[in-house]
Amino acid sequence: MTIQWFPGHMAKARREVTEQLKMVDCVFELLDARIPYSSRNPMIDEVIKDKPRVVLLNKMDMADPRETQKWMNHFEKQGIYPVMLDAKNGKNLDKVVKAAEHVTQEKFDRLAAKGLRPRAIRAMIVGIPNVGKSTLINRLAKKSIAKTGNTPGVTKKQQWIKVGKVLELLDTPGILWPKFEDQLVGKKLSLTGAIKDSIVHLDEVAIYGLEFVQQHDLATLNKHYNIDVTDDAPYIELFDAIGRSRGMKNKGGETDYESVVELIIREIRNAKFGRYTFDRVAELEQLTDDAE
Ligand code: GDP
Repeated sequence: MTIQWFPGHMAKARREVTEQLKMVDCVFELLDARIPYSSRNPMIDEVIKDKPRVVLLNKMDMADPRETQKWMNHFEKQGIYPVMLDAKNGKNLDKVVKAAEHVTQEKFDRLAAKGLRPRAIRAMIVGIPNVGKSTLINRLAKKSIAKTGNTPGVTKKQQWIKVGKVLELLDTPGILWPKFEDQLVGKKLSLTGAIKDSIVHLDEVAIYGLEFVQQHDLATLNKHYNIDVTDDAPYIELFDAIGRSRGMKNKGGETDYESVVELIIREIRNAKFGRYTFDRVAELEQLTDDAE
């Protein structure tokens, strides 16, 4: 479902997450491994502050494995503990629990030194919509708890879910808003299904996605659509070629661009022909270097 974010909603979401944070020992910040920069809430550091944190790069099954590794290294360099994850298929769930143990070790050692009895680690999941929060909660709980596509601002009684012996997870994830100031970020969010509404023009999203694949994986693109375009072909040529190949034509015999746009977005969103990472560590580090 689509959530429209207004300043009031954002303030409320932040307040709710801040309240929930008081109850936990650590936070799982859930990101989409295809866009680890673009899928971060812009105020996440201010919200989480110095609470122990684990970054979960979810949907690794749809991201470029080499790029995911680079993102893992990037977060490690920043002193953040990362885990790559496929919540849908339950891959690396054990690493999530281990990570929570690692980042809270110091706190629990301190408590033990004071003579307090050991207890389970309390954690919560935070992230923007559609990154897989509910899927992960259900996986960890081994049953269906969080409704997928839940709404911010709908309060219900919160409960703890036991995850093995060492972890207790809040059954309600913290939902924060995505970045929206940047057009390119908007296109990436749309292309990966984090936003599905008209904040961005779908034709621009399709052009961005198609040009990305043309630059990074041309042979696969040609093979998948049974076309033969070059790496410098303008996007309109790609649209026409795909339209021809898939029989997407209007009555007048012209390319049915709307259908082609819809097809491209759907297929890239679901990683139908390749695993792509749209946020590149190298580009982010370049940006940070330039700013310094
Ligand atoms: P939430 O809004 O953050 O709670 O996101 P959901 O849990 O509702 O997930 C959004 C969509 O992403 C659903 O269609 C999930 O099946 C899908 N999804 C979640 N995790 C993964 C994953 O690791 N891999 C893939 N391929 N899909 C996932």
